Amino acid sequence: MFDLDQIPVPDLSDPNFVPFWEGTREHKLKIQRCSDCGTYRWPPRIACRSCRSTNVEWVAVEPRGTLYTYTVVGRPTAKGFSSVPYAVGFVALDEVPHVRIIGNIVDIDPSAVKIGMALEGRFVTAGPDEEMTLIHWSPADNGA
Ligand SMILES: [Zn+2]
Repeated sequence: MFDLDQIPVPDLSDPNFVPFWEGTREHKLKIQRCSDCGTYRWPPRIACRSCRSTNVEWVAVEPRGTLYTYTVVGRPTAKGFSSVPYAVGFVALDEVPHVRIIGNIVDIDPSAVKIGMALEGRFVTAGPDEEMTLIHWSPADNGA
C-alpha cells in the first residue's frame, strides 16, 4: 500500500521524540505523561500545558483507539505515499481519549472507514534503511 522504504525519515535524534521512536522499535506506543500532575500529552513538548512542569515520564499505552476523524487522500503528494486512495485518521486512544494520534488507516478500503470505528495499532518498519518503525491503524478484531 505504501512504499515504506521511500518514506522520508524525520530527525530521529530530536530529543522530544527519541523515547517515542525507541518505543515503536519495540512495538510499544509510548507517550509523555507529566511527572507532577499526571497529564498525558501528545505531541511531545517541553512543558506541561496544565501545570507548566518540565518533569516528564514516558509511559507505554495500549495501541488501541477509536477513530475521531479522518480524511481520504486521493492524489499522491508525498514520497512513499504514491498509492492512492488511502485514509489518514486522528485516533483517540482508548486509555487516554484526549490524546489523539495521527496515522494511516490500513487493512480497509478507504470508502469503508467510519468515524467511531475501533482501531488497533500495527507497527511497521520504514525508511530507506529501515531506520524507523511507524504505527499504522487497522480495524480492531471486534469491529465497531
Ligand atoms: Zn503537569
